[in-house]
Amino acid sequence: MKLARFGKRGAEQPGIVGPGGTLRSLVGVIDDIDAQALSPDALDRLREIDVATLPEVLEGTRIGPCVGRVGKLIGIGLNYSDHAAESNLPIPKEPIVFLKATTAIAGPYDDVVLPPTATKADWEVEVAFVIGTRARHVSEAKAMGHVAGYCIVNDISERAWQTEREGQWTKGKSYDGFAPMGPWLVTADEVADPADLGMTLDVSGVRRQDGSTRTMIFGVAKLVSYLSGFMTLEPGDVVTTGTPPGVGLGMRPQVWLKNGDVMRLEVTGMGHQQQTVRVVAP
Ligand code: ZN
Repeated sequence: MKLARFGKRGAEQPGIVGPGGTLRSLVGVIDDIDAQALSPDALDRLREIDVATLPEVLEGTRIGPCVGRVGKLIGIGLNYSDHAAESNLPIPKEPIVFLKATTAIAGPYDDVVLPPTATKADWEVEVAFVIGTRARHVSEAKAMGHVAGYCIVNDISERAWQTEREGQWTKGKSYDGFAPMGPWLVTADEVADPADLGMTLDVSGVRRQDGSTRTMIFGVAKLVSYLSGFMTLEPGDVVTTGTPPGVGLGMRPQVWLKNGDVMRLEVTGMGHQQQTVRVVAP
């Protein structure tokens, strides 16, 4: 299934992609695409619905982030061997974990309004996984059973805040709008191999990232198991798993987002995102 949320920011309603790609409303069926809707039982109940009988969502309706009431948004750093190389950093011995504020979560087509003092805003196409059942000290063998599905996240980063200021990465990753999520939550049964997904990102028509989850260092099962030893993963938590090469930070000379840029992201089977960058005068 491909689940989505539509409507005004903060008042999104649940939907499902029906035959022919039309978005249909799940209003009255479930409250939201959130922790409650993501358990294996709840997803099975949704599978029994005849989607063609649901009302169509009006074309042009805003698409929101595909998961509501996200408890934790966790990022994994330098998780692609070829991206670590372009960043001139060694391949990590164990996953680099950081948090993005959940207030950064935005819809996949919302404008990205940069902080007025941003100087080094950058893009990162990523595959995220969404937790469906509580995971605490789970083995790698059992880890995939805790994953409800996958979606695209653009892990937007202000590199000056991330790397030139004191402390760790969270400051540079958490500004409002820095985590466009969706358009769809694609349930795990529809993703044959999360370790073999193509992913691209264009900035204003120029292909900047063209990678694959094949070069991911720590895969999904490892990440679920690893993280669950440090913190309880709850249904509705989202883990964005890192980016392949081609970010502005890795270019010579470096390139940063500017007013009017359009980012277009695509991941195999997960649809696409598109955001226009806006800069507001300080
Ligand atoms: Zn990232």
